[in-house]
Amino acid sequence: MENVKTILSEYGKKLVTSGLVVGAGGNLSMRDGDYMYISPSGFDLQDIQDEDWVKVNIATGEVLSELKPSSELHMHLQCFRKRDDINSVLHAHPSYSVGVSSTGKEIPSMFPDFPAMIKNIKYLDYMIPTTNILADAVGDVIHETDVVVMRNHGVLTVGTSMKEAYFFMQLTEEAAKVYTISSSVGEPRILTENECSDLKNLSSEKFRAKLLKESQ
Ligand code: 13P
Ligand code: ZN
Repeated sequence: MENVKTILSEYGKKLVTSGLVVGAGGNLSMRDGDYMYISPSGFDLQDIQDEDWVKVNIATGEVLSELKPSSELHMHLQCFRKRDDINSVLHAHPSYSVGVSSTGKEIPSMFPDFPAMIKNIKYLDYMIPTTNILADAVGDVIHETDVVVMRNHGVLTVGTSMKEAYFFMQLTEEAAKVYTISSSVGEPRILTENECSDLKNLSSEKFRAKLLKESQ
């Protein structure tokens, strides 16, 4: 497997260039054995060099680098501690997801990849970012979902691979974007529950989901 820090630097750039975060928003981390590497606090994610990623002991929370870790460190720790199956955690501030969810609505299934790839989404009402209250609330739901939408704040996704966590983030934002566009033109047609369950069971979609899990 490619070096964890190289993957993190690559995805930090992707998050910025794709507009999923602006300014110094968002953070990302990956598991490396008993440790994790997380973005330093307050950095523009595209500027982080391989040597800047902050090493943290997952069990104890001990920080083993000079730079200050992301202020959402506890949120990332909760995810790795509660889910042995995941290796990557992403947190971004995608505009359409924040916009749609902040009305109190949920992000609906507008196109096939969304229900096929995302099992479910958990929604949290607004809590002050960077607090243990928010970290614990994420910890309470992360065993049931790979996507947590925090109203008036952002989205957290987890994945076996970083590619998977990133794809979950992109799909969530794309669904919110398509819903917003559709709502501005007319009454959106949302995929029905039957259509969604058919998509979840399609063998072609299962193949694509597996490929994503096995990638880096
Ligand atoms: P950090 O720069 O400390 O990671 O904070 C960004 C953020 O998104 C807080 O929710
Ligand atoms: Zn945030």
